[in-house]
Amino acid sequence: MLIAGNWKMYKGPAETAEFCVELKRREADFEGIEVAVCPPFTSLAVAVQVLAGTDIAVAAQNVHWEDEGAFTGEVSAPMLRELGVYGAIVGHSERRQLFGETDEHVAKRARAALDAGLSVIACVGETEAEREAGETEDVLRRQVSVLEAEDNLVVAYEPVWAIGTGKTATPDMAQEAHAFIKSLVDVPVPVLYGGSVKAENAAELLSQPDVDGALVGGASLDVESFAAICLSATRS
Ligand code: PEP
Repeated sequence: MLIAGNWKMYKGPAETAEFCVELKRREADFEGIEVAVCPPFTSLAVAVQVLAGTDIAVAAQNVHWEDEGAFTGEVSAPMLRELGVYGAIVGHSERRQLFGETDEHVAKRARAALDAGLSVIACVGETEAEREAGETEDVLRRQVSVLEAEDNLVVAYEPVWAIGTGKTATPDMAQEAHAFIKSLVDVPVPVLYGGSVKAENAAELLSQPDVDGALVGGASLDVESFAAICLSATRS
């Protein structure tokens, strides 16, 4: 069971340090689960520093497929490794929708990160219009087909209509999508659920047999609510 907090474009280094000090203080509460935080690039170093010596992992929110080069604004996998970062999110729907990322970009980012020894949380999920048109499985099949399943790959099922909206997939909907995603890959891959996960709904979602954890956005920004979600995971 993995609970990862995607902080999006929130928390500079000072706030990150404060959050991580408090999370570290509570680490003993999270026995038996994996916990990760995904701060913005500029806050990664301080998160790694504060959480050094703990089992709480630090991941980036994106990663480029080349090691270096003329790619203004991008950060590579070896650069993240050098910082002591353990992994990266790729294919978040905000990247796909706001920054034009395609399945091909996501595949390249995932491949390069895995090859460099990073773990990858690859996000997939349908929009509301796609779900209403009965296209959920087609979308998931297309997005998952570009990923090469292996040990350090985790998939996050994040229905776009549930991200930051307060609308959560029902536990049954999540279970159905997770089981479908797992049926698409040859080797077992953990599948996290993401989309308005909160302390109040985490236990029910995490109790589904194919829900292997959560990728938490908004509710991961407050250490109290993030820790409460982690605690729910320890009981699931
Ligand atoms: C996310 O950003 O990955 C996410 C799931 O956001 P939220 O929990 O705020 O819906």
